[in-house]
Amino acid sequence: MLLDKFKEMAAFQAELRDRKLKAFGAVTEELLSATEGVVEGRRVILAGTNNYLGLSADPRCIEAAREATSRWGTGTTGSRLANGSFSEHQALEAELAAFFGVGHAITFSTGYAATMGTCATLAGPGDVILLDADSHSSIYSGVKLSGAEVIRYRHSDPADLAKRLRRLGDRAANTLIVAEGIYSMLGDIAPLQEIADLKRQYGAMLLVDEAHSLGVLGERGRGAAEAAGVEDAVDFIVGTFSKSLGGIGGYCVSQHAELEDVRYCIRAYIFTASPTPSVVASTRRALQILRDEPELREQLWDNARRLYDGLKALGLAVGPAPSPVVAVEFEDREAAMAAWQQLFDNGVYVNLVVPPASPSTNYLLRNSMSAAHTAEQVDRIIGAYRDLIDAGLVTPSAA
Ligand code: PMP
Repeated sequence: MLLDKFKEMAAFQAELRDRKLKAFGAVTEELLSATEGVVEGRRVILAGTNNYLGLSADPRCIEAAREATSRWGTGTTGSRLANGSFSEHQALEAELAAFFGVGHAITFSTGYAATMGTCATLAGPGDVILLDADSHSSIYSGVKLSGAEVIRYRHSDPADLAKRLRRLGDRAANTLIVAEGIYSMLGDIAPLQEIADLKRQYGAMLLVDEAHSLGVLGERGRGAAEAAGVEDAVDFIVGTFSKSLGGIGGYCVSQHAELEDVRYCIRAYIFTASPTPSVVASTRRALQILRDEPELREQLWDNARRLYDGLKALGLAVGPAPSPVVAVEFEDREAAMAAWQQLFDNGVYVNLVVPPASPSTNYLLRNSMSAAHTAEQVDRIIGAYRDLIDAGLVTPSAA
């Protein structure tokens, strides 16, 4: 019967309940700051969020949201195409376009809708989408809806992408290449220079999801494309307000004037209520702060380097370079779960990632940094990992 396919999930959930493992859907009962809270009854350092600049707790953003609620009410109650376009939405779109130095911007109610909606709409039957094999679920959902032929290239592997473009022949000109700026699970950065070269060589179009790189990379914080110096080769940038900007919602920006027509074809834009005025206002304020206070980005990277160096010094295999996201990988499920629990008991909340959410068959403890972490908090996180090693829950060389 229809519901049989959920039996495996039911068994997994029952196992989690038996073990009293609160790693998934842990309830935050109190937020003390951007980096500390009470989760499931325990006071913890938050080292598993996407609050890269700490702006969800910024008093200026909170005040902007409060004022907008007083002025506009709690929701728009409609689509951007009907009654849900307020001057706040238009202002945010103009500010996003100006920030990215392009002519056009669309906002969405979630980042998921932005990525899914644009991928689903830009390519259609007869077109091709070439996507990184480790793409986020929103990209996979979008390409499935598009009706285009979908081909995966090996994760961040320009040689494999080149091979697949070559095989397409004339169809390369009708191809959308999709990559992410920073990949969310391991924190690695896409080789956008090589991907941009290939896009130019084959006359394809390129979309980059900068969900985890906005405010994190680039001289002005515009993301991985800016850091790689290839913004002119990126046709569409999509991203989210829910990470470095501390709100909820998403965007697509482009130098192509056609984006204004694409807008009216994206179902995830048309057939859903527009973002609430409060979140648009806090996002506008957060974008200003992101633009005007590059020191937040520097602080984030100081913390990222501190965590990376500390975990590396413990002998953990933490990837080739520092990043605001650092993952510790486990082949063994039991070990990963036990390690998560001990970290939590020690006052450190990180993300436990299980396949298929992790890019391989490995289990991950995903640690993420915020500009709002103090050096002392970062050292406490490193100390909690040292305790894991001392307890024999992680073997440095095998982690
Ligand atoms: N794209 C990527 C790469 C993401 O990691 C995420 C969120 N994890 C999204 C899109 C969706 O963004 P949101 O959670 O803001 O809807």
